[in-house]
Amino acid sequence: MWIGVITLFPDMFEAVVREGVFGRAVASGVVNIDFFNPRDYTADRHRTVDDRPYGGGAGMVMKVAPLQAAVMAAKERAPTDTPVVLMSPQGRTFNQAEVGSYRDSAGLILVCGRYEGIDERFISRWVDLEWSVGDYVLSGGELPAMVVMDAIARHLPGTLGNQMSAMDESYLDATLDYPHYTRPETLASEKIPPQLLSGDHGQVRRYRRREALKRTLERRPELLTRMTFGAQDRELLLEIFADRQPD
Ligand code: SAM
Repeated sequence: MWIGVITLFPDMFEAVVREGVFGRAVASGVVNIDFFNPRDYTADRHRTVDDRPYGGGAGMVMKVAPLQAAVMAAKERAPTDTPVVLMSPQGRTFNQAEVGSYRDSAGLILVCGRYEGIDERFISRWVDLEWSVGDYVLSGGELPAMVVMDAIARHLPGTLGNQMSAMDESYLDATLDYPHYTRPETLASEKIPPQLLSGDHGQVRRYRRREALKRTLERRPELLTRMTFGAQDRELLLEIFADRQPD
């Protein structure tokens, strides 16, 4: 996948493109990433990218021209039909369903806002969709863009050593992930659940599914309303309800 990032602060991405799972995806060519700094597309001595808001008020607004030139440069390098996505607290929530919808896209152009906001005429002319990473306001779109890039890259073939680990994670079927354990087997008298030591794959699968359902029921019960349950899930849920202590 090709990712073009429009940002005033490309250096913020340095660690992310170098380290960990995303760093490996870049190093192995699964992800190609290019940065376009709107400041490089200004013509004045001060390389101005922002200006005061019409109507007054606090903060500055990002100007259309440098952003537009940066997006045009990105589009020249992007695969055809690459969507332009603005990181915005006003966008639709970026979640696992969005990851699923965009992981097959050949490219993505991610626009990182700064200051009080962006001239609305840039958004209406150039932006195809807006993603929010949560109901809070950050100082810029760079951290949200990193969240988006990382979440999508995990699902590109070749990013994770074992592709099954992306298939197992929280949210993929609307349940949260099951608990994980590694050595030592006993820690301050707390033991590993015996099913995980049984060597019986059926038992391990059943235990993990039961814990995933139980966790989701306890922590995010609303997620279960989006699911249709098979016979084994129904049996496990009945077991979980039967084990519950009355409040
Ligand atoms: N005044 C704007 C508002 O209330 O909608 C917020 C501007 S914010 C200080 C600057 C930039 O940070 C935004 O243009 C956006 O790119 C990014 N940003 C802030 N919070 C975000 C969030 N929750 N999700 C995605 N991007 C966010």
